[in-house]
Amino acid sequence: MRVLILGGTHEAFQLAEQLAAQGGVEFISSLAGRTREPRMPKGPVRTGGFGGAEGLARYLRAEGITHLINATHPFAAQMSVNAVAAVEMAGIPLLRLLRPAWTARQGDRWVLARDAAEAAELCRSEGGRIFLTLGSGELDAFAEIHNAHFLVRMIDAPEHLPLRDYRVITARGPFSLQDELRLFAEHHIGLIVAKNSGGAATYAKVEAARRKGLPIIMIERPAIALDPRSPAVASVEDVIAWIRQAR
Ligand code: NAP
Repeated sequence: MRVLILGGTHEAFQLAEQLAAQGGVEFISSLAGRTREPRMPKGPVRTGGFGGAEGLARYLRAEGITHLINATHPFAAQMSVNAVAAVEMAGIPLLRLLRPAWTARQGDRWVLARDAAEAAELCRSEGGRIFLTLGSGELDAFAEIHNAHFLVRMIDAPEHLPLRDYRVITARGPFSLQDELRLFAEHHIGLIVAKNSGGAATYAKVEAARRKGLPIIMIERPAIALDPRSPAVASVEDVIAWIRQAR
């Protein structure tokens, strides 16, 4: 048995930790190479794209991978599509590790958006001081907004963002409720734009918004987050159980 973990998430990191601690299963973690100083998981790691589904299928064969775990972020749609196609070519099983989405609770003021473009339209109609927790590749839709100041939080500071009026802060989660409340107060935030990533590490902003009565434009997950052709589980423990049963 030789497992490839498509990673870049806290869960993929934890999975590698647990497999390394338990021993007995050969595995490799794969990172896209987006962040300058990624948190390196335990065990062997490879970095960079595979070259589409065909490239991934070639890699799976060349490395003798017998089981693929897609533990990428719920918004990593392209990689998830590629994983499904690649295992069909390579003839090996695939498991999706997908953390549950957040659901709105009493007091939450969510406005749902299908994607970044729809979120940007909503920002344009609201204006004001807006906290954005999106990746640099997702900001083009916000480029022509003239009536807003954006506070953008990212892991790495890019040289330039395609926004009119913005400030970048660099930070890596997890974030605490106190952190988020302080940030919202310091920057006089009136509106938040977030992706429905799920998980605990970045949930504090949702809680902080609820406490302050602030609205969140919540970008919903791409439909492909869950492909019916591959089984999916919600926790690292469930992946370990699947691997144990497959051995
Ligand atoms: P994506 O749009 O689904 O993938 C774009 C391309 O990046 C893929 O086609 C693949 O290139 C390469 N890629 C993505 N994940 C990879 C991995 N784990 N190992 C090797 N190559 C990978 O992905 P994304 O949304 O840009 O996310 C990139 C990475 O950041 C993922 O590892 C994801 O888990 C992590 N991440 C994403 C988000 C988010 O909001 N999207 C948030 C936190 C972390 P090839 O086609 O050349 O193979």
